This record gives sequence, C-alpha cells and structure tokens, in this order.
Amino acid sequence: MVCGVDRVTGALIGLKSEDRKAMALVSRLCLSHGLPDHGAEIHQLLALSCRPMKEWLPPTVLESMGWGDIVLIDGEDLSPTAEAEELASGFSTVAAGMEEMLFQKLVDLLDKQPSSLASSYYTNIREFVIRHPIAKLDEIRDFGAELTSSLWACLQQFYEPIPEFWSIRGKIPICAHCRGAMRLRFNQLACRSTACSMSNPTEVKEYRGRENLVRVSHSIRQYWVEPGIDEIRLFDALIHCGKTPRLYPNRDRVDIEINDVGIDLKAYTSPELLAWRLNRSIGGLAFYERKWLVIPDWLAQSVPAYVRRVSGILEGSARAIRCLTLSDALGELSNDA
Ligand SMILES: [Zn+2]
Repeated sequence: MVCGVDRVTGALIGLKSEDRKAMALVSRLCLSHGLPDHGAEIHQLLALSCRPMKEWLPPTVLESMGWGDIVLIDGEDLSPTAEAEELASGFSTVAAGMEEMLFQKLVDLLDKQPSSLASSYYTNIREFVIRHPIAKLDEIRDFGAELTSSLWACLQQFYEPIPEFWSIRGKIPICAHCRGAMRLRFNQLACRSTACSMSNPTEVKEYRGRENLVRVSHSIRQYWVEPGIDEIRLFDALIHCGKTPRLYPNRDRVDIEINDVGIDLKAYTSPELLAWRLNRSIGGLAFYERKWLVIPDWLAQSVPAYVRRVSGILEGSARAIRCLTLSDALGELSNDA
C-alpha cells in the first residue's frame, strides 16, 4: 500500500527512500522541461502513471525513445504494466521479484514432478486459468481432479472473491468472448480486457450469480490472462485449421510451438521497447529453427508501422527473429505443410 507519508520502522504503509528518489527524478525531468512538478505528490504521480507517458512527461524526450504511448500502471488492475517492468529491469529488484514471487510456489511444486508431467500440468493449469478468468468453485474443483492435491491448492490461491461492486443488479455480466467479467462504461456494458475489447464486438454471454463465483487475482490477470487472450486466440485458430500446436511447451519455453516454429506473442505499446527487450535476450525462441514474434492485429493496427519498427531495431541474435502480425502468422501456418 502506498500513501504519502514517510515510512517509519515497522509500518506497513508509507514511502520508502527508493520511492522518494523516483519522485525526485520525475520532478527534475518535469521542471527542467518547463512542466508542472508531477513528482511532488505520490497520489497525483500514481494517477498520472495510469495515462500514456507523453501526456505528462516531456514529449520530446519520449519521442526520441519511442516511449510516448507507454502506460506504467494498468488502470484496471492497478499494478505495473509489462512495459513498466521492462523499463525497471536492471534498476529495481521490486518489479523483477513480483512475477517470481507469484509463481514460486507453482514452480516448487512442479519441480517435484517428472519433467514431462510437470510440463503438461503447467500447460493445463495456465490454459484453465486463461479460459476461466471468472469461475465457479465447482469448476475449479472438477478441474482439480486432474491435478495433485498440492497443485490444486496452489491453483485455488490464484482466485479470490468477486467484489460486490462488480455486480449489476446482483449478478456478474460475463463476456461472450473471453468469459471475463464486464463493467458499465458510459452506461454501456464493456469487457474489462483490452486485448478482448479491442478485437471483439461487445457481447454478453450470460449473467452469473455471485454465489461461489471467484475471479483471478490482479497479478494473475496481468501475467497470464490478459496476454493469454491473444495466445489462446492463435492457438484455437491453429487447432481449427487442423494443426497440432503446443501451448506453453516445456513450462513456458515459448507461448506456442508448432513443428520447428517457436512463437512468442507480445503486446507492448512501444515497438522500440519490445525490440530493446529482445536485443537483451531472445529467451526460449533460441530453441527453434524458425523464431516468430507475433503482434496482435489490434495493436499492429493502432500503432503506425509496428512490425517494421520492431524489425528495424533488432540486432545480434535477435536478428534471427521474424516479426509478423497474428493474422499473417495464422495465414502462413495454415498453409504450412
Ligand atoms: Zn472479453
């Protein structure tokens, strides 16, 4: 929890010296470019961090980096975005530790299993969670029959009760496409997921009662469900074409494997930041003859020349990566022998 007072020994809330340093850096950047001091007050800074950086930091500095459209805090989840974590890598141990901490228990439990079994448990659990961002306790219990009891207990911890304010006339509206919860926006229902709402027309599947209904926690939504919507979309489309793709093979070496093609999907707002990340490491793509970086169509359509901008900056081992849109990847793979 963050609040605008200094942290004293033993207190759970308040600003640490690291927070103060970050605020001072923002203040210096703003004042030296003739902008209001956006780093002076933590609540104002957190609110601004939910908006694209070009709206509150000096645009000339951001334009040269290609970072203008980056949002640091997801306004829906109120947690750091993937781009924020990427920017923080090497600077802070806080962001780097979040994902590790979140999945440490799962990793420990899978390590006790034979590797092929661990791999299929991992894929099944992650796929279940992405396909069930909202679930009845019964559904989780039924799925748990396929797991060890400790893995099932771990899965249950990925879910939490649904807050009452999410219900509309006592029920939760469910999106027909991603099966996540919807919310009222300007008096109209809208899906809470960006990846879903940018690609699909608004459609309510059903209204579910809140009894025994749970939702994935914010962090799981951020690391698995939101990026998973495009990953599952491509996976399902490949199955529909009669192909046999593998989802998150070898405990997430890549997002999808199909023959000699390793596919990672990424939805960073900034193509420059994405290329920068890949230049640092190409990760599990190194294991594949053909290394594909797939950009969701909704993102490629909203950011000018996305694919060309990423491809133009890749260097070193990342030059072996081919960047393409989801529909181009699907078109090519469906014709692949
Ligand atoms: Zn949806």
